[in-house]
Amino acid sequence: MKYEEIIHRCFRCGYCKLTGDYVDFNCPSYRKFRFETYAPGGRMWLIRAWLNDEIQNSERFQEILFSCATCANCVENCVFTFSDDLVNIFIAAREEMVNKGVIPSVVRDYLKNIYVHGNPYKEPANERGTWADGTSIETYDGQEYLFYIGCVGSYDERGQKIARAVGNLLMKAGVSFGILGSREGCDGNEVRALGEAGLFQLLAEQNIALFKELRAKEIITLDPHAFNALRQDYPGLGGEFEVYHYTQILAPLIQSQMMPLKEYRARITYHDPCYLGRHNGVYEVPRKILSSIPGVELVEMDQNRENAFCCGGGGGNFFTDILGGGEDSPNRIRVRQALDTGASVLAVSCPQCAKMLEDAIKVEEMEHRLEVMDIAEIVTRALS
Ligand code: SF4
Ligand code: SF4
Repeated sequence: MKYEEIIHRCFRCGYCKLTGDYVDFNCPSYRKFRFETYAPGGRMWLIRAWLNDEIQNSERFQEILFSCATCANCVENCVFTFSDDLVNIFIAAREEMVNKGVIPSVVRDYLKNIYVHGNPYKEPANERGTWADGTSIETYDGQEYLFYIGCVGSYDERGQKIARAVGNLLMKAGVSFGILGSREGCDGNEVRALGEAGLFQLLAEQNIALFKELRAKEIITLDPHAFNALRQDYPGLGGEFEVYHYTQILAPLIQSQMMPLKEYRARITYHDPCYLGRHNGVYEVPRKILSSIPGVELVEMDQNRENAFCCGGGGGNFFTDILGGGEDSPNRIRVRQALDTGASVLAVSCPQCAKMLEDAIKVEEMEHRLEVMDIAEIVTRALS
C-alpha cells in the first residue's frame, strides 16, 4: 500500500481528533462512536495491524475505515511530519480494500451506480440538466465560464434548488456562462475518497477531454466537492483550468455594487464545508458575502474555519451513511452548535451540507428556530 513505510510513525498521541485549541473532540467519527479505533490515530494503528496480518478484514474493520468523512480535521491538528498525508493514507487503505474486493455493500452499490448510470441516483444521464428547465440558462457554447453542477445539484431536489439560485444570480449579474446539461459527467470526488482510483481516473479523463473539446478555460463549480476534484486532482491528469467556487464569483460582483443588495435583517452563522475550507483554504469569501448584506449580523460558532466541525457528509458518507444517525451524529451536533449562537439562519455553501443539516434540524425538531439557507438563497432574498 502507498504510504506503508510511514504508517508506523504515528505514536497515537491523539491530538488529531481535537480542535486546534485542544478543547473539543472534532473528528466526526470519533465523536460519534467514542472508540479510539474511529479516531485518526486509531485508524492508523488498525491499518498497520491489517497490513501486518495481525488482524483480519471484517465488516467492523470496513465500517471503521469507511466512516471517515475525509474532513481533514486531523490533517490540521496532527503534530507529526506526515500530517498533510493523513487523509491520503486513509484513502490509500480504502484503495487497497477496493482492490481486494473487501468493502461495505453500500460503498460497492455507490461505485456501481456511478459506473453504470454516471450518477449515484440511478437516474438517466439525459435528465442531468433538467434542474435548469424553466430558466433561461444556456448550454455551454464558448461563454466565458462553464458552470459545472455535480451529481447532487443535478439530481437531488434540494441541490437543484440551490443550482437554480446560483444560476439565476449569475444571470442577473450578467455573467457570461453556460452549462453542460446532459453532457455533464460525475466529477468523481467521492469516488476517489472511497478508494476507487481507477474509476476516478476514468471519470476525470472523460471530463477533462470534454472541457478541452469545448475549449472551456474557466469553470465555476456549485459544489465544493467538485471544486476540490477539479482544482486539486484534475491538474495531475492533464486538466489545468481556472476553477472557482461560485462564492468566489459572487463576492467581487457584490463588492463592486454590480449586485446591489437591500436590507435583510437576520442573525446568521456560517458552516464551513470541509472541501471548501480545510481542503482548499476558502474561509473568508463566503463570510465577506454575508457581511456585505445590510442588516445581516454574522455570528460564529465556536468551531469555525480550520476548526469547523464536519456535517458528516464527506468522504462518501452523504451517500453511504456509514456514520449513521443518532444524537451524536455529526449533523445533529453541528445544528446544536449553530443554535447555540442564537442565529436563526444556518448559512451553507454546499448542497451536501444543506441536506445533511436540514435533515438534522428536522430530527432535532428545530424547524421553527433555525433555517438552513445556501448563501445563494440568502443573496437572492436580499436582492428581492
Ligand atoms: S496526531 Fe498524528 S501522530 Fe498523533 S495520533 Fe494523530 S495521526 Fe498519530
Ligand atoms: S479526516 Fe476527519 S473523519 Fe477522517 S479521521 Fe480525520 S478527523 Fe476523523
